[in-house]
Amino acid sequence: KLGNETAKAELGRAAWKLFHTTMARFPDKPTEDESSALKSYIHLFQRLYPCGECAEHFGELLKKFPPQVSSRSAAAAWACHVHNQVNKRLSKEMFDCANIGDFYDCGCADDEDDKKE
Ligand code: FAD
Repeated sequence: KLGNETAKAELGRAAWKLFHTTMARFPDKPTEDESSALKSYIHLFQRLYPCGECAEHFGELLKKFPPQVSSRSAAAAWACHVHNQVNKRLSKEMFDCANIGDFYDCGCADDEDDKKE
């Protein structure tokens, strides 16, 4: 159990970073299989999230706001929205989801460049 608030916050920052960066790299026009994979990923992220109370609350949010997996922009906007729901619960500042565009840049080569390696 992560009973330590500092560790819990650190885990949260790392998890959100991965979560939003995953959305930022999701295809603009995903195949059905890609959308299905993202949906599973989100549900498993919730189910296996190491902080139990966080996972429980996030599960309620997934019921209320089902994952949007039809495109990169839909997924990114959805993730921003659910993170804001967590922010609200923890009395944190709201993030302006209109500014999510280039915020999560992984610095990865794009797919075309990957093929050249
Ligand atoms: P974080 O909320 O960790 O955000 C990190 C950075 O992301 C911010 O500095 C900002 O640059 C950016 N950001 C902020 N909001 C958004 C947004 N809406 N969209 C995109 N980017 C944004 N902690 C608890 O104490 N109790 C809980 O129940 C709990 N549940 C959680 C559930 C999940 C699924 C996750 C991933 C984390 C949870 N946490 C919980 C941790 C909590 O959300 C924070 O990660 C932690 O408190 C550290 O907060 P922070 O202020 O550093 O910023």
